[in-house]
Amino acid sequence: METKSKVLIIGGTGYLGKRLVRASLAQGHQTYVLNRPEIGVDIDKVQMLLGFKQQGAHLVSGSFNDYQSLVNAVKLVDVVICAISGVHIRSHQILLQLNLVDAIKEAGNVKRFLPSEFGTDPARMENAIEPGRVTFDDKMVVRKAIEEAKIPFTYISANCFAGYFLGGLCQPGSIIPSRDSVVLLGDGNQKAIYVDEDDIAMYTIKAIDDPRTLNKTLYIRPPKNILSQKEVVQVWEKLIGKELKKSSISKDDFLASLKEQDYAQQVGLGHYYHVCYEGCLANFEIGKNGVEASELYPEIKYTTVEDYMKRYL
Ligand code: NDP
Repeated sequence: METKSKVLIIGGTGYLGKRLVRASLAQGHQTYVLNRPEIGVDIDKVQMLLGFKQQGAHLVSGSFNDYQSLVNAVKLVDVVICAISGVHIRSHQILLQLNLVDAIKEAGNVKRFLPSEFGTDPARMENAIEPGRVTFDDKMVVRKAIEEAKIPFTYISANCFAGYFLGGLCQPGSIIPSRDSVVLLGDGNQKAIYVDEDDIAMYTIKAIDDPRTLNKTLYIRPPKNILSQKEVVQVWEKLIGKELKKSSISKDDFLASLKEQDYAQQVGLGHYYHVCYEGCLANFEIGKNGVEASELYPEIKYTTVEDYMKRYL
C-alpha cells in the first residue's frame, strides 16, 4: 500500500493554512500543526487548533523564536508546508522562513518543503514595481536559501485567491461584489486566474508526494477560471440578472493614485497592477520547470468562477 507522508503545517490557523490542515487530513496524511506559544490568549486560534486535534491532527509546540523547537518539530515529519503570512494589509512575515530553512537543513529528514508562496510566481517578477515587489523579492530570498541548502521543494503558484479577486470583481479594496457598479482596471481585458482557496489546499496536498512536482513550480490554472475582469463581471451580472454601471481607471491614473496610499496599500495595489494591467499570471507558457495542477490531478473537481460567486447572492 502507498504510504502517505507525514506533514507539518506551519501557519495552520491562517486564511490559507487552515484549509491546508483540513485538506491534509481529508487526504489521509498524518498531520502535525505548529502551535506557537505567541498566540497566547487568542481564543479563536486556540479553539481552531483544538478543533484540528479533534479531527485527528497532532499539535506540536514550537516557535520561530526558539530554533531548536523548529528542528524538533521538523524531525517528526516527511513534508513541511509553510503558510506564514505574506499580505501586507494583514501581516508579512515571509523572511522568518529563513530560520525554518536552517532547521530543515539541520534536521536533514525532510523529503519536501513547500514555502509560503501561493500567489504570483516570484521568479517572473524581477521587473515588479516598488514597493509591491517586496513580496516577490522576499519569496525569492527564501527560494535561494532552500536551493542553496539543497532541500527538495515544490513551489505553489496559486494565482488569485478567489475571495479577494472574485469577491471584489477584481477591484482592490473590495471583497464583496457590488450590485450597482464596477471600475474596470484599464480595458478590463487582461486574463487572470482565480482559484477557490479550498481547491488551492487540495492541489497542494496532492502535490506533496508526487514525483512529478519535485523541485518544480506547480501552477494552478483551472482552465474555466482563466478570465478577464470583464468576463468576471459578466458572470456576476448573469447571476444577479442585472448589468452593472461601468467606468474605468487608466493605468496612469491607477499608478498615480497608488502613491497617495499608505505602504501596505501600495504593496497590494502593485500586485493588482501587474495582474490586471499587465496580465502577469496568464501571459506566459509554463516551461520545463513547472507543471500544471488541473492537468496532473483531473480527479479534483475544482470550483468554477460561477459556482464560487454564487455565495455572494
Ligand atoms: P495569514 O495572514 O492568514 O497568516 C498565516 C499565519 O501566519 C497566521 O495564522 C500565523 O499562524 C502565521 N504568522 C503570522 N504572523 C506570524 C509571526 N510573527 N510569527 C510566526 N507566525 C506568524 O496568511 P495568508 O493565508 O493570508 O497568506 C499565506 C500565503 O498566501 C502567503 O504567502 C501570501 O503571500 C499568500 N497569499 C496569496 C494571495 C493570492 O491572491 N494569491 C492572497 C493572500 C495570501 P499561526 O498563528 O497558526 O502560527
